[in-house]
Amino acid sequence: MNDPLRFDLILAGGLVVDGTGKSGFLADVGIIDDCIARIGDLSQHSAARRIDCRHKVVAPGFVDTHTHDDTALMLWPELPQKTSQGVTSVVIGNCGISIAPSSLPGAPPAPLDLIGDAEKYRFATMGEYLDHLDAHPAAVNVVALTGHMSLRASVMHTLNRPADVGETKAMQRMLSRSLEDGSIGFSTGLAYAPSSSARLAEVVALAHLAGEADGIHCTHMRDEGDYIVPAIREACEIGRRANIPTLISHHKLLGKANHGRSLETLAIIEEAREVQALAIDAYPYVASSTVLKLDRVRQSTSVLITWSTPIPEASGRDLAEIARNLGCEIEEAVERLSPAGAIYFVLDEADVSRILAWPETMIGSDGIPQDSFPHPRLWGTFARVLGQYVRETGLLTLEAAVRKMTALPAEVFGLVGRGKIEPGAYADIVVFDSATILDQATFLTPTLPARGIELVLVNGRDVFAGQSTTGARPGRVLRRAALNPPMSMQRHKLRKHVAQTRTRSTL
Ligand SMILES: [Zn+2]
Repeated sequence: MNDPLRFDLILAGGLVVDGTGKSGFLADVGIIDDCIARIGDLSQHSAARRIDCRHKVVAPGFVDTHTHDDTALMLWPELPQKTSQGVTSVVIGNCGISIAPSSLPGAPPAPLDLIGDAEKYRFATMGEYLDHLDAHPAAVNVVALTGHMSLRASVMHTLNRPADVGETKAMQRMLSRSLEDGSIGFSTGLAYAPSSSARLAEVVALAHLAGEADGIHCTHMRDEGDYIVPAIREACEIGRRANIPTLISHHKLLGKANHGRSLETLAIIEEAREVQALAIDAYPYVASSTVLKLDRVRQSTSVLITWSTPIPEASGRDLAEIARNLGCEIEEAVERLSPAGAIYFVLDEADVSRILAWPETMIGSDGIPQDSFPHPRLWGTFARVLGQYVRETGLLTLEAAVRKMTALPAEVFGLVGRGKIEPGAYADIVVFDSATILDQATFLTPTLPARGIELVLVNGRDVFAGQSTTGARPGRVLRRAALNPPMSMQRHKLRKHVAQTRTRSTL
């Protein structure tokens, strides 16, 4: 050999599925320090460690585009829920709910309480929180959104109304600072009271700032049921007026009356993508989960309670059965259980499959780690896509599924050097057995780790090996300044330019 390299680690002989969607190929992957140094036949090179990956898949680590891990990163920094299914980066602060920045006057109002109590909401600025994560790193990399609800609850005394001019300005100041501190964008949860009181102008005023800072707007839209079409149109309008890439979170259709309408919604989304940067993510289950709300209960065929402050022993039990035991109507049971969380069986498999199969859909777990009896998506999402929808049903090819979890989200969020197996990329890697990978977490046993994940590396270090976390915490905070603009804005602007040119030439 002319240039014998000495690698820290060689993953030898695996099927490399590189994240781009192209066909897998057999190769060795050589890692030096935190980077992938070379891919090919490395049999003549020496390595401090060589792992036989024959009959295994070597893929980029998965990016969980939709999480509520803001406090979990501090409470359980090894994050076994995520590393055990191959996740190496998480996007936090979704649905308008971020742990920072905050200056809450008291206990966090719902739904902010999904991720922590007043003590957890102790970071006045995003910078303080991200510095804390730098000093106390987690096993995975972190990308942080700033939540609309967190801003609202910090500056407004009453929340169930639109913000006035002064309040909007105060939120803008907080958001600007947060973006300067490294937040990569803005999230809304317009479906949730009291954020649902926010008018379009308020959201646009904030999203515009994030757009100017090359950020992204991720939205849990105002409605995912009967009024989903106006909600999609609103999300698109925010994107266009604020000139910001938009991500529609956990796209789904709630309630029997809306089952099948993903045909209609995906067509609208495709059309909108002609003129603006628009992305979606989804999770692979027919049940949703959030706080206990009567309107959602009414849309569902059955409901499981995930936590309840007044009746903690209700966790994991069926709402109808609880109501029977309490000797009351469902409405009263909901009242007596609240504040509480629930899993709602409210989606249709045909929609779930159609949305997952759409080429540009990314995968986001939406897991809620604080729940005492969580939705199984927390522990199972990524392994379920690979086991259920690649191997069992053949809905997706292996390469297409891996792209949805790696290179695609890395492009959408502008994560430089992540999401691909290529020389020079960070060594965020998952090694798994495509013949056995499957989620084990179910609605009745929701915290079982997935099977089939052999090894997970973050920045070149093992975080999950031998079926358990290793204790290593090499995760990094990925601040906006170090990232590309989201969703290839350059490409989008180009498309817009082409469209304008075309219009002009036809005039
Ligand atoms: Zn949400």
